[in-house]
Amino acid sequence: MRFVNSYSDKIKKYVIENNLTYTIDTMGCQMNENDSNKYSGILESMGFKRENNEKKSNLILFNTCCVRENAENTLFGRLGYLKNRRLKEENVFLVVVGCMTQQKHILEKIKISYPFVDIVLGTSAMSIFPQKLYDAILNHKKSIEYIDIGNEIEEEVPIIYEDKYKASVSIIYGCNNFCSYCIVPYVRGRERSRRPEDILKDIKTLAKNGYKEIMLLGQNVNSYGNDFKDIDYNFSDLLQDVEKIEGIEIIRFMSPHPKDFKDDVIEVIKNSKKIARQIHLPLQSGSTNILKQMNRKYSKEQYLEIVEKLKKADPSISFSTDIIVGFPNETEEEFLETLDVVKKVQFDQIYMFIYSKRKGTRAATIEDKVTAEEKVERLERLKKLYEKMLPDLNKKLIGNKYKVLVEGKSKNNENFFTGRTSQNKVVIFKAEKEDIGKIKDVKITSEHLWYLKGEIV
Ligand code: SF4
Repeated sequence: MRFVNSYSDKIKKYVIENNLTYTIDTMGCQMNENDSNKYSGILESMGFKRENNEKKSNLILFNTCCVRENAENTLFGRLGYLKNRRLKEENVFLVVVGCMTQQKHILEKIKISYPFVDIVLGTSAMSIFPQKLYDAILNHKKSIEYIDIGNEIEEEVPIIYEDKYKASVSIIYGCNNFCSYCIVPYVRGRERSRRPEDILKDIKTLAKNGYKEIMLLGQNVNSYGNDFKDIDYNFSDLLQDVEKIEGIEIIRFMSPHPKDFKDDVIEVIKNSKKIARQIHLPLQSGSTNILKQMNRKYSKEQYLEIVEKLKKADPSISFSTDIIVGFPNETEEEFLETLDVVKKVQFDQIYMFIYSKRKGTRAATIEDKVTAEEKVERLERLKKLYEKMLPDLNKKLIGNKYKVLVEGKSKNNENFFTGRTSQNKVVIFKAEKEDIGKIKDVKITSEHLWYLKGEIV
């Protein structure tokens, strides 16, 4: 489905005359970040200017996430805070979009407790956003309703990236996996792959506009193409086609599912000159029994086998992962299995979470005997292990030379510039303003827990 904003001209005059501005508050994952870039594109095509300040903006859009429970409290807190402004000031509008709004109980709560919100939209309803905005701004008509997830992919939605040299491109939406703790398949629907020609066209345009690094995005990127009925084209085909695009020099992807990480993708990574030597491979747990309870469909051994194959393909590959600590009834032995995998893989980056119950998921119905204190204590042990491992991993990099995209000035030290190695390690180094957006050879000179220092050679 091609996105057409037939409301753009109708509303633009009003927006420009009143100098309307917007702020987007994005919660959650990179898919949401990418959707927020599209909302920016739509709003700016209608004349809005970005403000990035809730207190000063006319339109505040919350792009919500429902993976963690505290996100709900954050949203309701923000809405409560903005109530007075919305009710007293003219030309102030509140919009709530994203995963949370796919849940009926959230919608009911907004209707009853926050009726001053102007627009609520689900995850696949971008095409009706301009019309809803038109109604809200020019006709003072609210729209807080449940909008079912359609299966159609909305193409050609205008998009604005904050970054000038790296961009994320969604390749697949939704998820078929139903991990027992996860709400995503219920709020983002089943897997729908974008057509390769649409993805490649977008990336070619980005390359023409000077973008050097592309992140291919999806809940489960390596099931890309499984839903095509008319063509035989999968994730490894896509990676090879993106590799051919002139101007793109770094390709990353997020997230692959271990159960779908097949040899053909490993072979493509091995032979690629552009695919980053960093793989984000969500582990979740190192215990085969817990993985079974989680419905992850791989074992500890199968996970380690993929890591071994990737390390064999290129020993410079580094790994990052997601780990959930304290899944219902996780035993001490099962937790130790997780620590064992962490030691074996030597992850460079771990996103660690304490299991949090999500209403509507299978795991939420399990009676849990693990206490909150035990869960916190396990998380602390995992953190300690990781922080003990990291300096040794970093030390091994000193003296190595990496191709680094100069992203901009360091936020913490204005004499330095910042970029990332292929392994996704943040590195700071001295450079010139003119180097921003260029790929430079950087030699690592020292390590600091969360970043490396280097020099251009
Ligand atoms: S693969 Fe599992 S954890 Fe990831 S989005 Fe799908 S259901 Fe959720």
